[in-house]
Amino acid sequence: MDKKDNFISAFTIGGSSIYEECECGKKYYEDTKSVDNLKDLKVDSNAFESSGVERISLNSKDYVLECDCWNEKMESVMNFLDFNAVSIAEYLNSERERKVKEANEIKPIVLDKN
Ligand SMILES: [Zn+2]
Repeated sequence: MDKKDNFISAFTIGGSSIYEECECGKKYYEDTKSVDNLKDLKVDSNAFESSGVERISLNSKDYVLECDCWNEKMESVMNFLDFNAVSIAEYLNSERERKVKEANEIKPIVLDKN
C-alpha cells in the first residue's frame, strides 16, 4: 500500500450504499442489477456509475470515494498530518490523560440489589 492507500484506508467510512451524493454535488449509483430501485436512479442522467459507492470523511464532510473532488483536500490533510505528527501525538496523549482523569473523577453508581 502506498501513502494514499493508507490515508484512504484510515478515513474511509465503513460500508457502501447503492446511491450517494458527494459533497461537491455529483451523484453516484452502484452498477448492480439486483437492486429494484436502481432503474429510478439511472434516470438521473447526472449520476455517475460506480462499482460500489463508498464514502470518505474529511474535515467533517462526506465525499464519494470514487469522486476526484476531494484529492486536493486529501493532499492538504496528509501534509498537515505529516508535518504535525509529533504535535498531534502529544495532543492525543494529553487528551487521553485528561479524559481518563475526568472519567476517574466520576463516582460509580451503586445499585441496591435488594
Ligand atoms: Zn465530489
